[in-house]
Amino acid sequence: MPYARRRRASSRPEPNGSGYNGLSSPGGHSTSLNAARRTRELAEVAETTVDVLVVGLGATGAGAALDAAARGLSVAAIDANDLAFGTSRWSSKMIHGGLRYLARGQVGVAAESAAERGVLLARTAPHLVRAQPYLLPLTPRVSRRTAAAMMAGYRMGDAMRAAARTPRRLLPGPSRLDAAHALRLVPGLAPDDLRGALLSWDGRVVDDARLVVAIARTAAGYGARVLTRCRAIELRGDGAVARDELSGRLLTIRARAVINATGVWAATLDPSISLRPSRGTHLVLGPGTLPHSRIGMHVPIPGERGRFALVLPQPDGRVHVGLTDEPVEGPVPDVPEAPESDVTFLLDVLNSVLAEPIGRSQVAGTYAGLRPLLAGDGRTADLSRRHAVLTSPEGIVTVIGGKLTTYRRMAEDAVDRAVALRSLQAGPSPTARLSLVGAASGAVRGPWRLVERYGAEAQAVQALAEADPALAEPVGPGVIAAEFAWGARHEGALDAADLLDRRTRVGLVPSDREAALPAALAAMS
Ligand SMILES: Cc1cc2nc3c(=O)[nH]c(=O)nc-3n(C[C@H](O)[C@H](O)[C@H](O)COP(=O)(O)OP(=O)(O)OC[C@H]3O[C@@H](n4cnc5c(N)ncnc54)[C@H](O)[C@@H]3O)c2cc1C
Repeated sequence: MPYARRRRASSRPEPNGSGYNGLSSPGGHSTSLNAARRTRELAEVAETTVDVLVVGLGATGAGAALDAAARGLSVAAIDANDLAFGTSRWSSKMIHGGLRYLARGQVGVAAESAAERGVLLARTAPHLVRAQPYLLPLTPRVSRRTAAAMMAGYRMGDAMRAAARTPRRLLPGPSRLDAAHALRLVPGLAPDDLRGALLSWDGRVVDDARLVVAIARTAAGYGARVLTRCRAIELRGDGAVARDELSGRLLTIRARAVINATGVWAATLDPSISLRPSRGTHLVLGPGTLPHSRIGMHVPIPGERGRFALVLPQPDGRVHVGLTDEPVEGPVPDVPEAPESDVTFLLDVLNSVLAEPIGRSQVAGTYAGLRPLLAGDGRTADLSRRHAVLTSPEGIVTVIGGKLTTYRRMAEDAVDRAVALRSLQAGPSPTARLSLVGAASGAVRGPWRLVERYGAEAQAVQALAEADPALAEPVGPGVIAAEFAWGARHEGALDAADLLDRRTRVGLVPSDREAALPAALAAMS
C-alpha cells in the first residue's frame, strides 16, 4: 500500500490513543515525526521498559529500529543530534554491487552488497535508489590492459547482479563506447587522445540523508519511538542514562536489549571497541560548473591501480567529486572538515580528464565523512568493509563497519543477536520485503523533482505549495519552501539546521545555506 494517502480515518488505532494528524503506514502507526510526538514519546520511554533500545540514528541504527519494530518488538531509538547526523550523510551515495571488493577477492562482501542493492532497487526503496551510469574515459593514462581488466571486472559485476536476481531492466550491463559517443554523453571531457570509454551501471541513492529519514519514519510507522536530540551518556546491557539535549534533563531508559549503532563514535559508549576511522572528502561543484550531464564518471587516480575518483551529478544540478581515503587519529569531531590537501588532490584527478580545468575558486563547497572501520592491519583503503556485530561482557550489542548499501543486513544481524542474547519473542526479520516510506506500488504523480526525493509523498509536498504561494518559492537549488514545511511537520526536523543540512542538502554550499536560512527559520516558527 502506498504511504502517500492522507490519514482521514485510521483503520487501526494510533499508539496510545493519540491522534498524530500525520501519515498512515502498514505498521498501523503514523509515520510523521515532529516536535510534539518527540515530547510525548520521550516522556513515555522514561516510564516503561522497552524490548530494544537502539542508540544512533544513522542508516544502521534507523535500520535496527525498523527491523526490531517490524518484528513486533517495542523499540526506543535515540540520537544525540538528528537523523543522519553522522557518516550516513557524508557518503558518495553509491548503492554499490561491491565491484571493488570483488577485485580484492572479498567475494562474500561483494555478494552481500549486490544482494542488498537489489533489495533497495526492486523492493524497499525504488523511489530513492536507481541505476546510475558511469563513464570511464579511456585516456592515454589507462593502458589497453587496464581497460580490458576493467571491462572484465564490470562483466563480473554484472554476473553478481544476475546472481542477486536483480533484473537487467533495473541495472543494465556494461558496454564500450567510441570517443564521439563518450563526448556526447559527457561534453566536458578532453577530446585529445581519447580512445573511447567504458560505460557501466551501479545503484545510487538520490540523497543518503533522505534514505535515513525514510527508514526512521518507516520504523515510527511500526511503532518505534524515534527520538532525536537525546544523547546516551552511559550505556549498560539493560538500558542507558540519556540526556534530552533540548532541556538538559537526564532520563533513564530501561531496555531488555541494547544496540549500539553509533558508528564512528561507538567506542565512546563501549571502550572495548577499537576503530581506525578513515576520512573521505568530496567536492561540491555548483550547477553549470561542468557542462550538463546526468552521467557519472570513474576517473582513474594516477599511480593507484584499481582506484578511481567518482564524479556524481546530483538531482539539484550540483556535481559531487570524491573521494579520498586517509586514516585519521584522535578524537572524533561532530562534523569532520575537508583539508585543503584533499581538495587539491581531487581537483588534480578531475582535471586530468577535463577539457577546461576547474579552479579552486569554482569549488562551491566541500564535505568530509569518517568511515567507521574496525581496526586491522594495513592501509585504511584496504580494510574490509564487512560489518561486525560485537557483544560486550555486559551484553551491549554493537554493530559497526559495513556501508550504507548494507544497512538493512547489518540491522538484521544486530537484532538477531539481541533477540538471541535476551531470548526476546520475535520472528525472523521481514525488512527485505518492507517498502520504506514514499515507495509507491504504482505510478506516482507530481513534479519530477519532488517525485525523485519524496516518491509517493511528492503530491502531498506539492499540495502544500499549491495551498500557499509562499511555499512554492525556491529556497535553494531545486528546493522549494514547501519542503522545509514538510520536514518540520512530518520528517522530524527540530531546527533550521535539520532542514538545511539533512532534510534537504541546501547547506552543502555555504552561500546557498546562508540565503536559505531565513526560510528555514520561518518554517520552524
Ligand atoms: C566519505 C564516505 C563515503 C562513503 N560512501 C559510501 C557509498 O557510496 N556507499 C555506501 O554504501 N557506503 C558508503 N560509505 C559508508 C557509509 O556511509 C557508512 O558505513 C554508514 O553511513 C555508517 O552509518 P552508521 O549508521 O553506522 O553511522 P552514522 O551514520 O555515523 O550514525 C551514527 C549516529 O550515532 C549518533 N551518536 C553518536 N554518539 C551518540 C550518543 N552518545 N548517543 C546517541 N547517539 C549518538 C550520531 O549522531 C550519528 O547520527 C561511505 C563512508 C564515507 C565516510
